[in-house]
Amino acid sequence: MLLVLGGDIILSKRRILMTELKKIEKRIDSYRDEMIDIQIKLCALPAISPASGGEGEVEKADVLVDFLKKNGFSDIKVIKASDLDSPSGYRPNILAFFKGKSSSKTIWIMTHMDIVPPGDLAQWKGDPFKAWVEEGKIYGRGVEDNQQDMVASLYAIKAFHEEGIEPNYDIGIALVADEETGSGKGIDYVLRQTDAFRKQDLIIVPDAGNEDGTMIEVAEKSILWLKFRTLGKQAHGSTPEKGINSFKAASFLVTELEKLYRVFPDKDSLFDPPISTFEPTKKESNVPNINTIPGEDIFYMDSRILPKYTIEEVVKNIKEMINKIENEFKVKITLEETQKAPAAPPTSADAPVAQALKRAIRAIYGKEGKATGIGGGTVAALFRTANFSAACWSKIDETAHQPNEYCIIDNMMGDAKVFAHIFLQE
Ligand SMILES: [Zn+2]
Repeated sequence: MLLVLGGDIILSKRRILMTELKKIEKRIDSYRDEMIDIQIKLCALPAISPASGGEGEVEKADVLVDFLKKNGFSDIKVIKASDLDSPSGYRPNILAFFKGKSSSKTIWIMTHMDIVPPGDLAQWKGDPFKAWVEEGKIYGRGVEDNQQDMVASLYAIKAFHEEGIEPNYDIGIALVADEETGSGKGIDYVLRQTDAFRKQDLIIVPDAGNEDGTMIEVAEKSILWLKFRTLGKQAHGSTPEKGINSFKAASFLVTELEKLYRVFPDKDSLFDPPISTFEPTKKESNVPNINTIPGEDIFYMDSRILPKYTIEEVVKNIKEMINKIENEFKVKITLEETQKAPAAPPTSADAPVAQALKRAIRAIYGKEGKATGIGGGTVAALFRTANFSAACWSKIDETAHQPNEYCIIDNMMGDAKVFAHIFLQE
């Protein structure tokens, strides 16, 4: 009897969840046009960081604060990071809450307000700051990165507000600045200024994802960018023996560096790709004419290293390769680390935030989410470094930073429902 009763309680609880979810989903659907409108409105306020030639996020933040005030959010706080390069003198970071039944933990959704510049305008079909709708997509700079899920999360909460449904836990919204240029005046600054984030919180960063919405990013590789400067001796192209060809020596070094794949061969199936990568990338120009032996050569390498290896052991191996080439070609090679970011401790695939996303993805999109590690670097790493568990997730076509960036409207609607499902979970 008792057992049956217990079953009934669970069943009715589930039924309440289902009816509440259905109401919220319907409400979210009713916002479709409004969500498109606010996308267009936000797009017209290009929040480009001063480092990329813009004025920052202040105007966009004002519109968002106004939205939060009108839609049931509480404790709205703007954390200002000083930035003398922006006309306002600061970069705004917004924190706001929507109260739930329990404050024992907070479900956070963090998105960023800043955007990257549009790049070559000739490659755009229209004005990147006058967003337009075409075949179920909104086009414009920032509509996917990161406005798709910013709008989705805000309207998911608006739906709770207007339906009068209390989520189980407090919901926190973080709308941050400066994500595209290092987060020093964004979440990195916020984490140092506030204790709003707690160890037990679920932190969702919908700023990475894949086309079918199954990638839950929980881990990253270490990033190492290196600059190799090879010094030889310039000479006439017809008398190479009078010089030392720096380009030739550097080319041999490039092939030597390929051996790193064999020195660090381990695979980790959490990651995609599952291996460490060591790729020569940028090449600076040397001599302008064909008949000169170049005395200086500069190239770069981008490495993404599995967390099981240290950056130091990779660098040690590279230095040995450099020595070999220096001796062989009588050149001098200097090595400069232009970026070195050791991997943050991964969030476990079993962490509550990853599990909550999995349940919601299954319920809303009918797909199995998979905890995945990527080549880095997302801002979630800043949370992980500070020992919070955070997951990146969204359903996107990854058109960020490209010309004709777009947001699939159905993804924006679906992601809002995924967030709503998480807010209703036990
Ligand atoms: Zn982004």
